[in-house]
Amino acid sequence: MPNTDPVAALCRDRDLPDESLFALLATDRYDTALFSAADRVRRQVYGDEVYIRGLIEISNYCKNDCYYCGIRKSNRNATRYRLSEKEILACCDTGYALGFRTFVLQGGEDPWFTDERVCHIVSEIRRRFPDCAITLSLGEKPAESYRAYFEAGANRYLLRHETADETHYRKLHPDSMSLRHRKDCLFALKRIGYQVGSGFMVGSPYQKTEHLIADLRFLQELQPDMIGIGPFLTHADTPFADFPNGSLPLTLRLVAILRLLFPTALIPSTTALGTIHPQGREMGLKAGANVVMPNLSPVGVRRLYTLYDNKICTDEEAAESRARLEKRVADAGYRIVTAVGDRKKEGDRL
Ligand code: SF4
Repeated sequence: MPNTDPVAALCRDRDLPDESLFALLATDRYDTALFSAADRVRRQVYGDEVYIRGLIEISNYCKNDCYYCGIRKSNRNATRYRLSEKEILACCDTGYALGFRTFVLQGGEDPWFTDERVCHIVSEIRRRFPDCAITLSLGEKPAESYRAYFEAGANRYLLRHETADETHYRKLHPDSMSLRHRKDCLFALKRIGYQVGSGFMVGSPYQKTEHLIADLRFLQELQPDMIGIGPFLTHADTPFADFPNGSLPLTLRLVAILRLLFPTALIPSTTALGTIHPQGREMGLKAGANVVMPNLSPVGVRRLYTLYDNKICTDEEAAESRARLEKRVADAGYRIVTAVGDRKKEGDRL
């Protein structure tokens, strides 16, 4: 056990040796100090503002077979859908009227969405909503595809690395996938000029504390703009159906550590946090998160985009969900704002 206070050291150095990270992650004894330090730093950088992103789940087809995922290609019980360009643009119209200034187009790796189709959709959103950010989350693609989407008007890309440890990665993915390739994609996205988001699951099968520390070290190397983490949640139609869910306290601890390691990062309080506990998203905000991503997908398809079981907010219309979220965020002591919500730069403190 290190003899200095790890929370004070993390605040001071924005880094910690592995042994101190182990100490922070292994127990709840530092949680009160950790969460309050993380909230102090988020308020210094972002005040009480919470950015909202409108999530549009454009397809639940995927050519991959990640063992943890409910829309993996081998899941014959999944009812597949994909949205048309018209439907996607209608989601953007609804979202814009509700104050969203970032649209996140997320989907499995669906070959139907060729580069030409993606570029057409992106350029149409860019034309209609010039004051909005366009975020894509469409998986691993060749660098030329990422470049084409960027040139069509996309500015952000989310691609969670999920685990940075090679041995652990192999337990979560089939041989056709590679951690090296995923990391290469992330660095390619950065080179092209995207604001890049990455992140990982907490409590996924076979995960050890040293894997989580490897995740933090990889993020230090990547220096992403957005970092999304959530507890692993089981899906009944996957090979991991019998594994337990990840831990809420451990996820919150990691959100707070991320805020202190990356003071200006955009950190969502994820839907997975809201799924594992009714107040999970509020808890995430209080632990240092500053973004929420309500669902703008048509209500009819939300139940079909299930990466894990019991996903929340599948029945609410976008307006209803936006209003409820606004109240919940306010009750937690923060304020949803209508803004593109770019990452603040170092020194942009309030
Ligand atoms: S996690 Fe992503 S890449 Fe893997 S099967 Fe699910 S949607 Fe496809």
